[in-house]
Amino acid sequence: MVVSTLQVCPILVDGEWQELRDVETSPVYNPSTGEMIALTPMCTAPHVNDAVQAAAAAFSAWWETPPVERARVLFRFKMLLEENFEDIARCNTNEHGKTLIESRGDVRRGIEVVEFACSIPSLLSGDTLENVARGIDCETIRQPLGVCVGITPFNFPAMVPLWMYPVALACGNTFVLKPSEKVPLTAITIGRLLEEAGVPRGVLNIVHGGRECVDALLEHPQVRAISFVGSTPVARYIFETGTRHGKRVQANGSAKNFVIIMPDADIDQSTRSVVEGAFGCAGERCMASSTAVVVGNAAQASLPSLTHAARSIRVGPTDREPQPDMGPLITLEHRDRVAQLIGTGAAEGAKILADGRGLKLNSGGFFLGATLLDEVENEMAIAREEIFGPVLNVMRADDLENAIQTINCSPYGNGASIFTRSGKSAREFKHRVKAGMVGINISVPASMAWFPFAGWGESFFGDLHMQGREGVQFFTQQKVTTTRWFAEGEGSVWSTK
Ligand code: NAD
Repeated sequence: MVVSTLQVCPILVDGEWQELRDVETSPVYNPSTGEMIALTPMCTAPHVNDAVQAAAAAFSAWWETPPVERARVLFRFKMLLEENFEDIARCNTNEHGKTLIESRGDVRRGIEVVEFACSIPSLLSGDTLENVARGIDCETIRQPLGVCVGITPFNFPAMVPLWMYPVALACGNTFVLKPSEKVPLTAITIGRLLEEAGVPRGVLNIVHGGRECVDALLEHPQVRAISFVGSTPVARYIFETGTRHGKRVQANGSAKNFVIIMPDADIDQSTRSVVEGAFGCAGERCMASSTAVVVGNAAQASLPSLTHAARSIRVGPTDREPQPDMGPLITLEHRDRVAQLIGTGAAEGAKILADGRGLKLNSGGFFLGATLLDEVENEMAIAREEIFGPVLNVMRADDLENAIQTINCSPYGNGASIFTRSGKSAREFKHRVKAGMVGINISVPASMAWFPFAGWGESFFGDLHMQGREGVQFFTQQKVTTTRWFAEGEGSVWSTK
């Protein structure tokens, strides 16, 4: 059988890449063809323990390595990421299915976090104040936590792991990464480059698997912090279990992102941007524009324009030339779930303006065409659930007030945008909308490396977000030192005023 010849992805423990035998595996597909291309080993508690022990053993020496030397490893890592940029992007496309252009974006956003982390000597600097009282000075320093863990989703195989460990390592922590079992190959490719950059053994470890592996990480007494990105039910579970075991946790969850199109919006620009936001990466983005809220008579021009744009999207395999506009979904099950949700939406009264379910391609992949649903109402399943596929809902609103109310009903709060020419409307929207990342004439206001990725509501569990200075705060603990030096022969502490 073909399966026996497939590569079982190695784990990385204490600088050794190990191929596990006699463990259960999970398939990795090329979603463009439906072919199985590798197997992910499902690690159990002993594998996790080995990885955490290796990270714990490497911690002290890595922490004592001056920040500027840790930064030099990251500078070399950045150089290697650039040199291997195209290979990483192709690996990403092969196991995820997004187009090559999208994969390049995925890698580029990740590299930007490495670039940010390279300035760690400045980022780690503390505050000092002379003479907090006479002859007494006070200073803050930031120190690493120890062993930190990253658990990542399938949809950004390069970027999301890179949100986490470059910053954690720069701060002096050691790390255990558990990438999504659906896309382990990109994480392995990038992990090998960090090794080549000269990171000492045990500083980065990689394990694979699902619930059992994650539970072992959440419960391990030597793990100090957990960074998670994935769906809301799992994010909530990770947050509750991790904090119950005394870990610091940041957990990004699912999303339902809204884009308001005001009557004064530029039709061409808003259509182009909303369609890109909805169907880019086949809608498998936590910042995907999943709902357009069309205000008043904006519908007259916007709907024909959105319908035409959605119907024009070329869908096809991404592992070859010519590249399509949009690739497949991650698995057959996920494709079928999204198709089923479209059917539910239609049964609940939504009007189908473009239907991707009829798409027929011969490559064997997990394809669904771009779908546009109008007259979606708040109580419909398609309005409430994260679809995570190439489906754009349209809701109608009488005015801006009504549109903001619709958005603020959502339990999620990742991204929200407005298209308008009015500064007053934009300001009102920015001030009142309940979302952590807000776009003005930008459909996907995803924060970049220097800013926190700042979801609200059920899109985020925790306190300190990933990326930017909050990332550095998450991966460090603060120490405040208050100092007095006595002059020769100076009286006792108690005699000072
Ligand atoms: P997922 O929640 O299924 O999996 C995420 C990770 O959790 C994987 O590593 C997986 O192995 C692990 N996992 C899955 N089920 C588990 C369980 N029961 N117990 C313990 N661990 C478990 O998410 P996914 O399907 O890989 O990714 C898509 C989701 O991620 C979407 O909901 C999307 O919105 C979200 N996402 C959010 C952000 C953000 O920043 N808010 C970014 C990217 C993706």
